Amino acid sequence: MTDQQLDQSRLGGFTYDPAPESASVARIADAYGLFIDGAFTDPGDHEQFVTLNPASARPLATVAHGSTADVDRAVAAARRAFPSWSTTTGSQRAKYLYRIARLIQERARELAVVETLDNGKPIRETRDVDVPLAAAYFFYYAGWADKLDHAGFGPSPRPLGVAGQIIPWNFPLLMAAWKLAPALAAGNTCVLKPAETTPLSALVLADILAQAELPAGVVNIVTGDGATGAALVAHPGVDKIAFTGSTEVGRLIQQRLGERGTHLTLELGGKGANIVFEDAPVDEMIEGIIDGIFFNQGHVCCAGSRLLVQESIADEVVRRLLRRVEQLRVGDPLDKNTDVGAINSAAQLARIEELTVAGEAEGATRHTSSCALPTEGYWFAPTVFTDVAQSHRIAREEIFGPVLSVLSFRTPDEAVAKANNTKYGLACGVWSEKGSRTLWVAQRLRAGVIWANTYNRFDPTSPFGGVRESGFGREGGRHGLEAYLDV
Ligand code: ADP
Repeated sequence: MTDQQLDQSRLGGFTYDPAPESASVARIADAYGLFIDGAFTDPGDHEQFVTLNPASARPLATVAHGSTADVDRAVAAARRAFPSWSTTTGSQRAKYLYRIARLIQERARELAVVETLDNGKPIRETRDVDVPLAAAYFFYYAGWADKLDHAGFGPSPRPLGVAGQIIPWNFPLLMAAWKLAPALAAGNTCVLKPAETTPLSALVLADILAQAELPAGVVNIVTGDGATGAALVAHPGVDKIAFTGSTEVGRLIQQRLGERGTHLTLELGGKGANIVFEDAPVDEMIEGIIDGIFFNQGHVCCAGSRLLVQESIADEVVRRLLRRVEQLRVGDPLDKNTDVGAINSAAQLARIEELTVAGEAEGATRHTSSCALPTEGYWFAPTVFTDVAQSHRIAREEIFGPVLSVLSFRTPDEAVAKANNTKYGLACGVWSEKGSRTLWVAQRLRAGVIWANTYNRFDPTSPFGGVRESGFGREGGRHGLEAYLDV
């Protein structure tokens, strides 16, 4: 019997019944304005653009396209709010942050459904990862707000001023939390620009900020596209830019700000290596590889998109991996049994397709899950490439999709050399039963984050960020405060 037949016979012909979460809790409006100075503007005052549900390619709502004048008003509101917010006692600021964290928990189901509808990621992930972690970051930084004097940055560290924060579409709510929570704890005021394909959860968050009675202007949320982001970067009233997104745009922003001396942190792309030694705990490691690349459809800057497996176990690992890939449930993101959801946009799908076609053309062997894909919306079946050479584009370029490239190595030195053979340096994973080997490898890897016998594990207490073309600056932990303090 083949592995596939064996899996089917074990299931005894049973299939999963649909287990859909209701979309009605999302309460999405037809049209949204901008959140400036503590209130929503009238949608009719702005040019509007459509945000789609990527699982169906149907419109969810229209959202305001923030103009240069809107960015101006948002920055002015943040500037007016700064003197009072920055001198509010730390314990008072903490109260607001705790309140926001609790409201995120109270409205968790609504946020999870909105995020799943707008982004395409499975409800299992928004419910269990994105939303609880967003709350956790607010709780964590609430704890720091009244302890800044004791954080090791001098006796009374000062905030930077107005922070312009530009975030991507892969973790829309969580990235908003990563940016806002430390900035507010440190006493800054903010103008946040969500990504154009996923603005809705930030707009629910705006409603939560109003519900928490956060003083007007402390956080302003301006939806729009790259032009709106560029207007924020160009604004002379902004003291700090925090950007998460592509390396190309990050480079552009760095050039723009270079002349002005504005504070900057960049969290950019990656091509993470998951390194598997022959003594690794096999079952956990297979799940770790799967999670490392197929979590959030691989739309993860720190995704373990290169598997480096020791040659002695390569055949066995690939066999088990392909079997596990066949078991992944791809489809309706609102179904609680779904493992892999929709690709976020037509543009992203086209990029994934282009790179996988290049992989085949360059001589790698493609293994694609035989799962059925929905006929509407943007979908890509989980895919593994074997026979990958380091020179192939699929081994060098960030695919940002559910596509894994498998390479092999013989010695720890070779593993390190191959893992470091990238322009990026965001994250790596090391799988081995032997702690001394893990540490030896970890010390030699050029990456900001290294996981041992796990992957894609996020925690508010732990700093996250890259080196080389993956950016600079850290988010999370005590280090995350430093990015918003004048130290
Ligand atoms: P991706 O390729 O993953 O969509 P981008 O870097 O294009 O990543 O987008 C990340 C965020 O940066 C989004 O909010 C986007 O609107 C914004 N953005 C895009 N271009 C610019 C720009 N020139 N200046 C500032 N922000 C931008």
